[in-house]
Formats: sequence, structure tokens, C-alpha cells
Amino acid sequence: MSEVRDSWTNFFKSALDLAYCRSCALCGTFGSDNPCVQCQGEMDLSDPSIEVHFDSPLAFTGSVYRYTGRPGQAVRLLKYARRTSLADFMSRSIKEAIENAGIESDLVVPVPIHWTRLMTRGFNQAELISGLLPFQPHVLRRTRATQSQAGLNSSERLKNLTGAFQVLESVKGMSVLLIDDVVTSGQTFGECAKALREAGATEVGGFAFCGDV
Ligand SMILES: [Zn+2]
Repeated sequence: MSEVRDSWTNFFKSALDLAYCRSCALCGTFGSDNPCVQCQGEMDLSDPSIEVHFDSPLAFTGSVYRYTGRPGQAVRLLKYARRTSLADFMSRSIKEAIENAGIESDLVVPVPIHWTRLMTRGFNQAELISGLLPFQPHVLRRTRATQSQAGLNSSERLKNLTGAFQVLESVKGMSVLLIDDVVTSGQTFGECAKALREAGATEVGGFAFCGDV
């Protein structure tokens, strides 16, 4: 009897998975976790996961995964194809990595995007992937619609970002952890950190879902 019940349970579960299109956003496998176990197995963890900086407003940068293959695909699908179903996994990965690394902060702040980009994209990906952390959405504001950093050299990137962030709430005497989807050169985190330190933050670090750290 219990076998019959189990098979009906499995039947309904599969039917529900199909009805709600439960599938892996990365490889398209139906009825799987999102991402599926195989795609998660293809993600390389960043090693080291944290890089400490000396003589910089940005005390450290870190990331969960290396910015290649499946993690890079997840970032691009979330940001450019609006596959927001991936945000749960990305947020969980970041939360676990931060806890494992023993990172603590007074404030968690997603890197903001400019309101014009928010209008076209509909969401800030950094906020979505901060979802499982007690983040504060209104501490920083992006004052300029900076161009995409892709395709710019190092000095052009810095010029593109300089003075692009404004601190809106008091951060005096607080440690701040910035969250973003990707960290490559660290210049975005660096510019946010500069603004936050000038506003009185004691320590600022940045952690991303994936990166070249
Ligand atoms: Zn998959």
C-alpha cells in the first residue's frame, strides 16, 4: 500500500515540477534543483576565497566561485536574461561562504546600480543575491550612469567609476560588507569603499558570487 502511495506521491511531485517548470536554469534539465547537482559540481571554488589588501580603503575582497564556466553563466543569465530563479542559489552560496570565512560586519550593502539601469533591468542583481543577508538597500547611491566596465582598460575603468557613489545614511564607526555579483579588478568595490571610509566607516570589505580573486 505504501508503495502505491509513494508512486502516486512521486507522480504528483513530477507533475508539479513540470507544471512549475522546475528545471536547471544553466543546462535546462527538467525536474532538477536550480542549478542541478551536475552544474553545481562544475563550479570551481575561488582559492583563496579572500584576498587581504593593505594601505587601501578596501580591506579585503572575496568571492565564492571562480569567474569561469557555470558561475559566469549564472551571473550573465541573471543579469541579462532575467533568470531571477538563480538568485536563491547565489544568495545561499554567498551567505555560506561569508559564514565559513568568519566575516562579520555591522552593515551589509549591495553595490547599487544607477536608477536608469534599474529602470531597464527591473532589479539590482546585487540586491537579489544579498537576499538571505540582513542587507541595507539605501546606504549607497550610484550618482552617475557609468558605462559598462567591459572593454575598458584599467585607467579608463577607474575614471569611469571615480566619484560615482554617494553615501546616504550614517556609517560612522561601522564596518561594512559590500556585496556584488562579480569582482574582477576590484575597482567598483574600491570606489564604494572610498566613499564609505570618507563617511566614517571603520572597515570596508567586498564579497561577490564569483571573481578573479
Ligand atoms: Zn544543470
